[in-house]
Parts: sequence; C-alpha cells; structure tokens
Amino acid sequence: MFSSLISKLGTLKPCVLCESASVKNKLSLCIDCWEYLKVEPFHIIKQDISILATTRYQYPINKLIQKFKYNHQLQYLKLFSDLLDQLTIPNVQAIVAMPISITRLHDRGYNQAQLLAKIIAKKHRLPLWEPIERIKEHSQKGQSRTERLTNNIQQQFRIKDKQGIKYRRVLIVDDVVTTGSSIQALKLRLEQIGCKHIHVICIAAVE
Ligand SMILES: [Zn+2]
Repeated sequence: MFSSLISKLGTLKPCVLCESASVKNKLSLCIDCWEYLKVEPFHIIKQDISILATTRYQYPINKLIQKFKYNHQLQYLKLFSDLLDQLTIPNVQAIVAMPISITRLHDRGYNQAQLLAKIIAKKHRLPLWEPIERIKEHSQKGQSRTERLTNNIQQQFRIKDKQGIKYRRVLIVDDVVTTGSSIQALKLRLEQIGCKHIHVICIAAVE
C-alpha cells in the first residue's frame, strides 16, 4: 500500500547528488542541486565546429563525469540523460557516439558516450549509427611533432570495412569536449563517407 503510494507520487526518490529525498521534479536531482550544477546550455565553437553543451566543464559536473567514466558510477547515467534532454536536438537521421578504442573499452567495460547516445537514440526514435571505429595509435616514428599531433588523433579513427545504410545528417554525442580535436577527427571521417550536416552535443564543454 505504502510502496504503491510512493510510486504514484514519484517524488520520494533521493537526489543522486545529495541523497535528500526531496526530488520534486521529474529529474534525478533536487532543486537545490539542479541549481548548483548551473545547467545553462550554451554553444561553443571548437575547430570550426559548433558544439552544444548542457553546462561548462566545472565543479561539480566534472567530478560526476569522472566518476561515471572511470569509476563505474553508472547511477549518474539518468542524470546525464536528463541534462542532455535540456538541449534541443537538431533534425538528424542518426545518432553517432564518440567511439573509444577496443583497448579502452576492455579496460572500462563500456563506452560512456555510447550509453548516452543509446538513450538519446531511443528517445528520439533514431538509429544509433556506428560507421567509424577508434583504433590503437599508429607508430609515429619519423614524423615531426606537429605531424604527430595532427596525424595521431586523425589516425585513431577508421572507417569500418562494412558500410550499410548511410546517413547525411547526424548528431555526434560525447560526454565532454575539451579541445575538440577528437570531434574534428570523427567529423572528418564521417564527411569522408558522405555526411553533410554534422551536429555535436555533449554534457559539458571546456570554454
Ligand atoms: Zn540534491
């Protein structure tokens, strides 16, 4: 009886940050924590690419993302998808998650960007498209420092051998964007297989 009442009200689940049972909205945070996170979606240009983020990469969101990414704290997934829900998703045909290498995937057990991308894809009834893979770095012998820096990141991204259906308008989902160099490298590969309109969203971005 009591438990069914709780589920009906849906207001007594604890806030994922402060654990107070005062979550009044449908989101995973209480109102105080929501304000504390300073969720103010903004656009930023990195490497000539326009990126839409839910907030700046600052405390406490940076700590939460690090826990989510490196400490298997997957309970934050709901919070992050709530945050991404604050963004207006552009008109696209498919969702592309920022890929991570197989080595990293084995170490971590999951790709945090892919977890977010799956939720967005499901919510907007769009396919999750994975035409690009991230591979181990190539040998960089005999290259200048600048060449190494530019080629390194680009060479980490490879177009998969088998290409099925292709999309022209896609949305890249990443957790954090710092320099934007991995976004740029992924975008270039997507363009090589015919993407024309590439949008980017992330939880947090560095200004
Ligand atoms: Zn709270």
